[in-house]
Amino acid sequence: MINILYAGVRTKWDEYGPSLRASFDRIGLEYNLVLDTDKPSEIDYIVYAPNGDLTDFTPFTNAKLVQNLWAGVEVPSANKTLTQPLARMVETGLTAGMADYVMGHVLRHHLDTDTLAAVQPGDWMEGHVPPLAMHRMVGILGLGELGMYCAHKLADFGFQTCGWSRTLKHDDRVACFSGADGLGAVLERSDILVLLLPNTADTTGIICAENIAKMRDGVAIINPGRGPLINDNDLLDALDSGKVSGATLDVFHIEPLPADHRYWTHPKVLVTPHIASETRKDTACDTVAENICRGENGEQFLHLVNKAAGY
Ligand code: NAP
Repeated sequence: MINILYAGVRTKWDEYGPSLRASFDRIGLEYNLVLDTDKPSEIDYIVYAPNGDLTDFTPFTNAKLVQNLWAGVEVPSANKTLTQPLARMVETGLTAGMADYVMGHVLRHHLDTDTLAAVQPGDWMEGHVPPLAMHRMVGILGLGELGMYCAHKLADFGFQTCGWSRTLKHDDRVACFSGADGLGAVLERSDILVLLLPNTADTTGIICAENIAKMRDGVAIINPGRGPLINDNDLLDALDSGKVSGATLDVFHIEPLPADHRYWTHPKVLVTPHIASETRKDTACDTVAENICRGENGEQFLHLVNKAAGY
């Protein structure tokens, strides 16, 4: 019998409890699932969310895994008490949701629907015809679980795609780059740029004046990754100058985005409230169950965080 602690948001226990049990039962685990414990050293696995109550992992001396319910791991990665292995969330619902968001906003920029939606009555914009998707390059910074899936969906639709990651990928349909030169190559060829990087010491401020200068004139930027990837003042300058034609921003340095932030009122910016994609309970609980099962079978956990790299 293994002891599993749910350390997600308490108000979601009524949803997550039954869902976790259903997934654990399906996979044949023998378990004791609890919301609280006075014997932390007896907990084998922790199902964790960064916005839950748990901040000190020190008493969980025998926990084999902390399974994050979020894809982003900035909060647990920065927690010095978390010395146990940490897995980030990878699940089909979260991945599909991100692809929907990215595809929708790439198409918005591609078809320039914002301009068409804002025309005045009688302003018949004859000749305002977008290029074909096959003539449009979408670049993705971050070719991980989400980035590569989105790149494939965009390629399926007909877009040209390229992307950048820390380690070089090889893919039939996505032109892959890595390293500083590779970043420059993606920036200079992308008509629409999607940010799906984690926020780490190496990626903070990657969208800065110096890198924006390498981009195509009129590039559109979509950021469902993390707010600190962007130097806001540099992006606003580039939007004002027309270097960047538009931005769809889902994540911000401070969330919720303060009401007086210029992004809210900038005519070329669409703010979305960190809703690009969210963990879907039922599919996520299957991921949790699978990882616990792997632990019990002595197999390598899936989606372990590289704490040195920060993601
Ligand atoms: P992931 O699988 O860990 O992928 C991260 C990608 O970024 C990898 O390709 C990685 O390269 C690359 N990368 C990291 N550091 C880099 C660096 N210094 N230089 C170049 N490439 C670098 O993560 P994921 O599951 O795809 O998620 C991506 C991010 O999306 C998350 O970290 C989170 O911030 C964000 N997210 C946002 C929402 C939302 O609702 N807005 C929802 C879910 C996730 P390697 O492949 O070489 O490791």
